[in-house]
Amino acid sequence: MSDDFDVIIIGTGAGGGTLAHTLAPTGKRILLLERGTFLTKELDNWQAGPVFVDGRYISPDTWYNGDGTPFQPQVHYFVGGATKMYGAALYRLRPEDFGELKHVDGVSPAWPVSYEDFEPWYTKAEWLYQVHGAHGEDPSEGAWSRQYPWPAVSHAPRIQQISDALAQAGYHPFHAPCGILLDEADRPASTCIRCAWCDGYPCMVHAKSDAEVIAVRPLLGLPNVTLMLNAEVVRLETDPSGRRVTGVVVDRGGDGKEEVYRGDIVVLAAGAANTAKILLRSASDAHPAGLANGSDQVGRNYMFHNSKAVSGFGEEDNDTVYQKTLGVNDFYLAGGDRPWPLGNIQMLGKSNAGAMKGEEPHLTKLVPHWSLDEAAKHAVDFWLTTEDLPKPGNRVTLDRDGQIHLNYEHSNESEAADLYGELRKILNHVGLAKHHVLHKSFYMSMNIPLAACAHQAGTCRFGADPATSVLDVNCKAHEVDNLYVADTSFFPSIGAVNPGLTAIANGIRVGEHIANRLGASSGFSAVPPAQRTPPGTPVSPVTRPS
Ligand SMILES: Cc1cc2nc3c(=O)[nH]c(=O)nc-3n(C[C@H](O)[C@H](O)[C@H](O)COP(=O)(O)OP(=O)(O)OC[C@H]3O[C@@H](n4cnc5c(N)ncnc54)[C@H](O)[C@@H]3O)c2cc1C
Repeated sequence: MSDDFDVIIIGTGAGGGTLAHTLAPTGKRILLLERGTFLTKELDNWQAGPVFVDGRYISPDTWYNGDGTPFQPQVHYFVGGATKMYGAALYRLRPEDFGELKHVDGVSPAWPVSYEDFEPWYTKAEWLYQVHGAHGEDPSEGAWSRQYPWPAVSHAPRIQQISDALAQAGYHPFHAPCGILLDEADRPASTCIRCAWCDGYPCMVHAKSDAEVIAVRPLLGLPNVTLMLNAEVVRLETDPSGRRVTGVVVDRGGDGKEEVYRGDIVVLAAGAANTAKILLRSASDAHPAGLANGSDQVGRNYMFHNSKAVSGFGEEDNDTVYQKTLGVNDFYLAGGDRPWPLGNIQMLGKSNAGAMKGEEPHLTKLVPHWSLDEAAKHAVDFWLTTEDLPKPGNRVTLDRDGQIHLNYEHSNESEAADLYGELRKILNHVGLAKHHVLHKSFYMSMNIPLAACAHQAGTCRFGADPATSVLDVNCKAHEVDNLYVADTSFFPSIGAVNPGLTAIANGIRVGEHIANRLGASSGFSAVPPAQRTPPGTPVSPVTRPS
């Protein structure tokens, strides 16, 4: 195999996988370097025990917190990255998130682009990832140029009941945007079975719109795309001036033997913590503090959301299987008697006894499985998200052995508490607080909040000023002419909705920019002419390789 490529992309997740998909039609020679392998389709995909108790799909990495205590981060090294496990709740940021927003603990800074600038790529992302939803229902959303490609996923009866009760009480519930490959009007043609395992589990039938299924698999077999597995990028080399990346150094198999690949353009998309790690490990005479780190911003401003999973238990059974169809953004922004923005309320995948055991091993150790099953039968499960702020001291650094240390302090705790207060009022309205309510403040983290890095972002923010940002507006490193970053590292602030769709939209945006730079049109269209149908009309699902 030649070791010279037009573009080398490091990481195949939401950012990197989508960018590769965007660039592939140019015919340019693309090398995709992925640290992991394909995630095996197996029965364990849908078993709470292997997934939550044994952590079967979590990397064995050890990271260290601010005081040096080791922990196992919830990171997933597979083709598709974190999207293999994600809940596919594919939200746009609100227009206000692109501006400066005042919070109780400080300011969430403005992006160098506006929501209106970004909107075309949100639309492309929604169409590429086959998102189901109903633009126009949620009063907090921004303008949209096209309706979702698929109608919203219908609520299960219990969730419809809750939605109706909320509307009657004056709230504005909406159908949540879901990235699943489902055709409710023509069930036999679809593969999604609306199971309970969309959130936190890999999809055994490949019916979740993850980056492997949607973006990477369709490229397999293309003559201009090479996917290399078990290829961990350890550092980047530059020419003596430091202005050009000349080599991508790969460790294949962890035996310390290194291979070097060359590309005219190099795109880092290894996830916010690992992208910072690679840059910091690439220090040289020209970049003594780490590659592209003259601003001292690489690794700083780490964010991951201030989140709570909450289960309300009612008298009624909740026999919902696919629960993620409802959202409430009534508290997203400040207003009325709310001085601060509080965040987003959405549904979690349906809880079950196995997941409860995995997430709360200490609390549930002595509780028999049947009694947890009984509790889960009545549970309705919510997910609350409050924005956390990009603090410079919340940062990834490396020790002498090149291991990740993550220093992090929460922000906006009182906003998160107020959002929980609002949810308690909601639960009262829908008869879910009569018995008890359980909540925990993090996500799939085995009681180590810092390990819950599902929504990690911010370590290489983009901006107009090289003194305060790592990347320019096109996500090219200010200090390096051929290096781009296309994962959630680029976020200057994180808003209070899930980051996946924004990472995907940006992958398309940066991919199109690189195609132009290479003198090629990407030829990529997430909305092919044949699919330009009236709003809400279903279109054919993308080809799904087995
Ligand atoms: C359990 C869970 C639930 C989630 N639910 C949602 C949700 O419902 N909605 C939503 O919007 N978001 C959700 N997310 C978050 C979402 O998945 C991430 O925000 C998104 O995948 C981030 O994209 P990325 O490109 O930055 O990183 P990733 O998608 O993680 O991709 C990084 C890639 O880089 C590879 N890699 C890492 N290091 C190296 C290296 N050194 N060399 C080569 N390759 C490397 C990784 O293996 C991976 O393929 C969830 C995440 C998790 C874990």
